[in-house]
Amino acid sequence: MSEHTNSAAAAAAPVDVVVIGAGPVGLACALEVQRRGLRVAVVDKGALVNSLVGYPTNMEFFSTPELLEIGGYPFPTAHYKPLREDALDYYRRVAQSEKLTLRLYERVLRLEGEPGAYEVVTDKGRLATRFVIIATGFFDVPNRLGVPGEEAAHLSYYYKEPYAHVGQHVVVVGAKNSAAKAALQLVRAGAQVTLVVRGAAVSESVKYWIRPDLLNRIAEGRIRALFHTTIQRIGPAGVEVLTPDGPETLPADFIYALTGYRPDYSLLAALGVACQEDAARTPTHDAETFETNRPGVYVAGTVCGGLNTSRWFIENGRHHAAVIAARIAASQG
Ligand SMILES: Cc1cc2nc3c(=O)[nH]c(=O)nc-3n(C[C@H](O)[C@H](O)[C@H](O)COP(=O)(O)OP(=O)(O)OC[C@H]3O[C@@H](n4cnc5c(N)ncnc54)[C@H](O)[C@@H]3O)c2cc1C
Repeated sequence: MSEHTNSAAAAAAPVDVVVIGAGPVGLACALEVQRRGLRVAVVDKGALVNSLVGYPTNMEFFSTPELLEIGGYPFPTAHYKPLREDALDYYRRVAQSEKLTLRLYERVLRLEGEPGAYEVVTDKGRLATRFVIIATGFFDVPNRLGVPGEEAAHLSYYYKEPYAHVGQHVVVVGAKNSAAKAALQLVRAGAQVTLVVRGAAVSESVKYWIRPDLLNRIAEGRIRALFHTTIQRIGPAGVEVLTPDGPETLPADFIYALTGYRPDYSLLAALGVACQEDAARTPTHDAETFETNRPGVYVAGTVCGGLNTSRWFIENGRHHAAVIAARIAASQG
């Protein structure tokens, strides 16, 4: 990456556009802007496509490759559905081919200045820019259980792979795709899995090829599933739950709380973006242009949906890039 990853110092010259977030949508925005002759820097607090780096090992995307493509670059894969590793390679190649200026492992803290003369303040310095595109996704702030003991070291909101859990009691909390896939992988790798579900059933939104697999493993008793069950406390003896039949303590060598994620609202506030008072706490933006209440500051990708994190994903969020880039190019006069 060295040929296009400028050091913070080298990239500190003013730019036209700062993209916050080097996810698939942030990269799509950056290359669309750059192709219109504007100077752009992409700032990410982590690695390139940091969210995907954090996804489970060998995770299979639901989307076929052409629906994940950005910038017109073909996404060749040997698989009908790409793996996480394919996507990591693909987005790296795109960023490299476009010679995007990347400032990685640099966290954006806030936005200062006025329209046309903004300063993005990071934990490494300041970056003068005329426009800002916020493409910060949703994967950094988990929906916490909110119970005593949830800071326990054997509880994680992020699942990677099952191999450390052979012969272990693992409690998986959640009823959607991530929880379903983790429970299936874990049981097949030799863990004793208890699935804790707050509602009445495994979500209907679980993909049609995963849901019956999980339901059959539950029916045959390989996965124990507790419905209408809430976590009360992570205690020394295990996970204390309240089931319809009363309280129970589940043995747990490890706990995966796969209960979803939410945008970083404190960051949005620090960037001066207001949020609606609707159920999704939608970041205020024009639905046509994606410009926020702060002139020259745009939202793109998953963050646009607020708490409705499945409203925008790579397939549809990548199209925000051309709209925003055209708007920025046009607003230059
Ligand atoms: C398990 C799983 C499977 C999925 N499968 C699919 C699929 O098959 N098809 C599909 O279309 N979508 C899928 N999605 C959804 C998709 O991955 C996301 O919608 C997508 O990553 C959103 O892209 P984005 O660029 O908007 O945000 P992200 O990819 O989340 O990128 C946001 C970036 O912003 C950075 N950032 C956050 N805060 C700061 C800060 N303060 N300063 C600097 N940088 C910051 C983060 O580090 C991150 O790199 C899946 C999601 C998950 C969790």
